[in-house]
Parts: sequence; C-alpha cells; structure tokens
Amino acid sequence: MEQNIYTKIVYAPTEDDLKNAADLLRRGGLVAIPTETVYGLGVNALLADAAPKVYAAKGRPSDNPLIIHLAASDEAEKYAVTCNAYYKLASAFMPGPLTVILPKRECIPDSVTGGLATVAVRVPSHPIAHRLIELCGFPIAAPSANLSGRPSTTTVEHVIEDMNGRVDMILNGGASDIGLESTIVLPKEDGSLVLLRPGAITVEMLEEEGFTVTLDKAVTERLQEGERPLAPGMKYRHYAPHARVILLSGEREAVQAAMEPYRDRTDVALVCYADDPVADASNARVLGAFDRRDEQARNLFDLLRSFDSSPEITRIYATLPDRKEIGLALFNRMLKAAGYDIEEV
Ligand code: AMP
Ligand code: MG
Repeated sequence: MEQNIYTKIVYAPTEDDLKNAADLLRRGGLVAIPTETVYGLGVNALLADAAPKVYAAKGRPSDNPLIIHLAASDEAEKYAVTCNAYYKLASAFMPGPLTVILPKRECIPDSVTGGLATVAVRVPSHPIAHRLIELCGFPIAAPSANLSGRPSTTTVEHVIEDMNGRVDMILNGGASDIGLESTIVLPKEDGSLVLLRPGAITVEMLEEEGFTVTLDKAVTERLQEGERPLAPGMKYRHYAPHARVILLSGEREAVQAAMEPYRDRTDVALVCYADDPVADASNARVLGAFDRRDEQARNLFDLLRSFDSSPEITRIYATLPDRKEIGLALFNRMLKAAGYDIEEV
C-alpha cells in the first residue's frame, strides 16, 4: 500500500522546527522522532483519529497498542492510574528506556490502546523527543518508526527508507544510543513485575531496586497457536530479514568451528564478534566486540536491515546470545529474527 504524503526531513532540528513539529502533531499529523531506544512514529495521543494513521503508515495491525511518551514521569497520573511500583520505577529509571503498563484513564482513546483497558507509558531521555513533548503539552503516542515486520529504525536513513512519503515530518536526532526498543513491565497488585519485553533496563537492574520479576512466556519462547502474549506486539513476526536466520547455540569455540566451513561463501553471511577468528572472512558481518553487549545492541537492527539489500544471501548464521543483562533483549530480538530456528553445536 503506497502512501503519498509530502515528507519534510529535518536534519538538524532547531527550536522553531520542533515548534512546527508540535503544531503538526496538535493538528493530527505524523512525525517520526528520534529517541534513545529506536526512532518512533509519533501522533497526538489524545486524538482518537490520529492513531489509525500510524497503523496505516506502518501497515500494522490495529490491535497492537502504542506507547504514550511523556515529558515527565509525574504526568502519568493524568492519563493512567499510577501505583507505588510505578513511582519506584520512575525514580530509578525515568527518563529512560522503560515502559510501564498501567490502567488507562478515559482521556486516552481506545484507538491508541488497541481497545485494551491499559496504557503503556514511557518518558524518553533523548533531548529532541523530550523537548518536542514539552512543546506539545500532550503525550505523543508512538510505535517504532518502521514498516510492520521490518527491524526497528535506529538512524534517520532507516526512517527515510521506510517512512518517506508516509509521514508529514522526519526529525533527525542521530543514531539511537541504545538501539533496541524499551523494556516493558507490567506491575502486579503485589508490587512484583511481569517483564513483557526485555530491553536496556535489565532484569538485574530491576531486581537491584528490590523488584521481583517474572518473564512473560513470549520473551523466550514461541507461543502456541491461540496463545496470547501480555504485550500484543510480541506475537507478530518481527525483525526478520528475507534470508533465513539460524542461531548457533553452544560454547564460543564450537560456534566458531561451526561457522568456519561457510567462510567466504557469497550465499551465506556470518554474524560474528569483532574478536572472532572468522571476523576476517569476506562474508563476516561484525555485531560488535564479544564483551560489549551495548555495542551489539546498537548495531543489531542496522545489521539485520542491511541483509535486505543483499538478495544473494539466503542464509545467515549468528551466535545465540546468553541471557545476562541486555543479552536477554538481544536473545529475544534475535530469536524473533530467526523465527526460533536454533541449531545446537
Ligand atoms: P513498539 O511501538 O513497536 O515498540 O511496540 C510497542 C509495544 O508495546 C508492543 O509490543 C505492544 O504490544 C506493547 N504495548 C503497548 N501498549 C500495551 C498495553 N497496554 N499492554 C501491553 N502491551 C502494550
Ligand atoms: Mg515495533
């Protein structure tokens, strides 16, 4: 479905540009905005007829709710029913890459929450996103600014690739610092948390703050036909390049040995770490240094997207990440990219 909207691309947004963007949003326009996690496709969260434009621009099913982005954590009270866990999370991690699911208030339209009685709330730390929300004076509802099914966008080039002609404005804010979507948690009545999507706010960090955390099954496992994840978006096939992705699970040396026979093949790509022996192969694609998970997170979506312009590659081998710290988020995104295709080595 081709759309044909004139898209204004702003490479170095000034205060005046942000005022224009806020005006566009106030009137129901679509603006792609940089955040510290990934780029977002923003609309006015208080306008019932704005969210459907997001679904149309992305080609996204409308039962997949949007996250509302606030300038400050205490504004959540206006749009959601807050709780002690929320304030504790807010003081530890906001602004930042954490989204909290709370019961919604009436002012948030059903079109934003996909008909759910809850709303997802986040306070981004990126200065452009923050200033824009402040100028708006209303929350910005936004999913990731990618076409449905493609990896999230982490640079303005990615956004232009997917969204040019589909949105009113694209704001450049440089490469996303984190590169993976926010951590999503659902506070339970007993004050514990269910992790719906792993991200840069890790289980270890949440536990450090005294929270008990359980993982929604959709974080680590493929759901059966008819099973529903707590975050509706987790059920969709995501992040998948056209080539088949196979995750190699085992000791680092064993994974290396399994990749070696594919060295320099033109139909196979090897996603490896900078310090791997196979990294000098012509078909190696480096994710980052082995012990720098933050670097791997920042590069993952750019790397996955790059395969779509290499049609000769039909198979991609990559290491299954461990689940420690932000490794769990890498594990979750790569598992989805691979359609849960894991080979033990
Ligand atoms: P994205 O915008 O691509 O980062 O996706 C937003 C994610 O937040 C999706 O996985 C949604 O399913 C999830 N989400 C948004 N609102 C809610 C909600 N009220 N309850 C559970 N998950 C939500
Ligand atoms: Mg998304």
